[in-house]
Amino acid sequence: MNEMTVPALPEFVAGPLPRRSAVAVRVGKVLVGGNAPVVVQSMTNTDTADIDGTVAQVAALARAGSELVRITVDRDESASAVPFIKEKLLARRIDVPLIGDFHYIGHKLLTDHPACAEALDKYRINPGNVGFGEKRDRQFGTLIELAIKYDKPVRIGVNWGSLDQDLLTRLMDANAVSANPVSANAVMREAICQSALLSADLAEKIGLAREKIILSAKVSGVQDLIAVYRDLSRRSNHALHLGLTEAGMGTKGIVASSAAMGILLQEGIGDTIRVSLTPEPNGDRTREVQVAQELLQTMGFRAFLPIVAACPGCGRTTSTVFQELASRIQEDIRTAMPLWRKRYPGVEALKVAVMGCIVNGPGESKHADIGISLPGTGETPSAPVFIDGKKAVTLKGPSIADDFRKLVDEYVEKRFGV
Ligand code: SF4
Repeated sequence: MNEMTVPALPEFVAGPLPRRSAVAVRVGKVLVGGNAPVVVQSMTNTDTADIDGTVAQVAALARAGSELVRITVDRDESASAVPFIKEKLLARRIDVPLIGDFHYIGHKLLTDHPACAEALDKYRINPGNVGFGEKRDRQFGTLIELAIKYDKPVRIGVNWGSLDQDLLTRLMDANAVSANPVSANAVMREAICQSALLSADLAEKIGLAREKIILSAKVSGVQDLIAVYRDLSRRSNHALHLGLTEAGMGTKGIVASSAAMGILLQEGIGDTIRVSLTPEPNGDRTREVQVAQELLQTMGFRAFLPIVAACPGCGRTTSTVFQELASRIQEDIRTAMPLWRKRYPGVEALKVAVMGCIVNGPGESKHADIGISLPGTGETPSAPVFIDGKKAVTLKGPSIADDFRKLVDEYVEKRFGV
């Protein structure tokens, strides 16, 4: 028999590339960029002038794990409401940093409402919406001077839906007479990058430190977002806010945001993320926070919540017992987390497995901290439980779900209790 040569194993990327952003920016109590973990943020959809409604939603987003929350500041009534919103949140011991989202008249609102300028922890400025013609630089300058005066960081947030049209036209014209013209899409992406970089440059010239500037350049196409942020990260060392704008509703929004941001985060690009999901009518706004956390956790960048691994089920599981148990465990853990976080430091790293039958059940359960392999169709009605890789007990009878739930509690108390 001829000797066989074992082919060399391919090299696998073993984890995220080092983060590229050299500059760390402090937003209230939260550090964004540098070597800080990627920060989760979200945005309210209440009328900011509705103080109680906005306080309630900011509180819900913060409780869900949003580390920064952005609110719309679009008129005098909203600007006047901001200090009261901050005060009420602090009275409820919620000190999540608040970011004011300004368009068109931000320079005026921040000038006319000093208490609002003081209460906010960061100002978001869209360079495509600060004013037009000769007013643009002047009004942008006013915003930056106010940020310097109140010692606040800013996000220079470009959005392709409100891109600086003068800049885009200039680049389009130059491309039209170029010996090597590129596609209109490539020119648009260049305009987005230039808008962010030129605005940041202008802000620094006015006197705002680089440690006070975060950049974002949002588009709604996955490939465009990847291209724009790769370019932005090559051309600057600013802290970067990632987000796919107008990602959409439900699974479409989740898949598109995760695909785009997952690739960039893996490449070390992005210091804070927002998943912009369009909620269902009366839907839960905190869903975007949950998705952002799950994206970071499934990629192994941060741990927010114990992971429940469950098999997808197949023809071997004709009953819904294991789906019900997996979903109950997931829900119970989510509900228990605020208390667990205080009582059981490190519990975020817990791994639970709920499996449907003997095929992969014992194997997967052994890889978890605590796992159960439920009986598939035709199997003996018993469920072995594995703890730290070893079979600990076999559960039987109608109370399997409750018994397993108790075992999870006992495991958490024993391993993470102080
Ligand atoms: S573990 Fe069993 S029930 Fe679950 S998917 Fe695999 S074969 Fe199907």
